[in-house]
Amino acid sequence: MRACYPNIMWRKAITAAETTATLPVLPPRLGGDSSLFLDLDGTLVDLIDRPDEVRADAELRATLLAVHRRLEGRLAIVSGRSLAQLDEILGAAAQELGLSGSHGTEYRWQGVEESPARPAALDAAREEFVKFAAAHDAVLLEDKSFGVALHYRVFPQIESEAQALANQLSRELGLFLQEGKMMVELRPGGHDKGGAIRHLMGKPDLGGSTPVFVGDDVTDEHGFEAAAAMGGYGILVGTPRYSAAHYNLSNPDAVRNWLEELLS
Ligand SMILES: [Mg+2]
Repeated sequence: MRACYPNIMWRKAITAAETTATLPVLPPRLGGDSSLFLDLDGTLVDLIDRPDEVRADAELRATLLAVHRRLEGRLAIVSGRSLAQLDEILGAAAQELGLSGSHGTEYRWQGVEESPARPAALDAAREEFVKFAAAHDAVLLEDKSFGVALHYRVFPQIESEAQALANQLSRELGLFLQEGKMMVELRPGGHDKGGAIRHLMGKPDLGGSTPVFVGDDVTDEHGFEAAAAMGGYGILVGTPRYSAAHYNLSNPDAVRNWLEELLS
């Protein structure tokens, strides 16, 4: 039986028994009345040591465009990446798909972009993160339009030090601290993937459709909650855990196969 625990911290330690009991193994075939929201890293493409080298292959781009057509345009990538990064990763396909970047801070929908002004505090945070990355060779700096992040996948021993710095800067500069898989990010508060899905579901073309959100990370839980609250559901990618998602797919390859089912 599935259980939902909206008030707990998603990072809470959980037991294997709880995780396997709360999530069905496979989602249903995607309905033709769906609006589909897809996270990118860890969902459509594997997480790799160098996130700056992630690129969608030609087959994935073609699949996304075909599903976008099948759903009559009701498909958006909802990512923590900036729009500029999504353009680089997805190539020409990014110009056709709906996009929400930087955790719901910026959007491109039917060619029209929406984004707020970049807060000056981000530049101050960036300066400190640059120094930290320069002092630790294996730590990567990610500089985005609405965020700055440190990635330490290849140097996990540095995690507590990176988190301490990010915590301190978050307090001093009034920025939101976003923790992810082997990374910390500082970004403006007030935005998350739940907000992104609610915002996109307000587009006239999406009225009356069923929202489905697919994601892998703790940052995706807001998206799962939003989709469920609007009559849809979430699909958690990766090892089952406590989640607001109803369903589970094991990895990005399984997500691609599930997408292709819609086209068969
Ligand atoms: Mg992800």
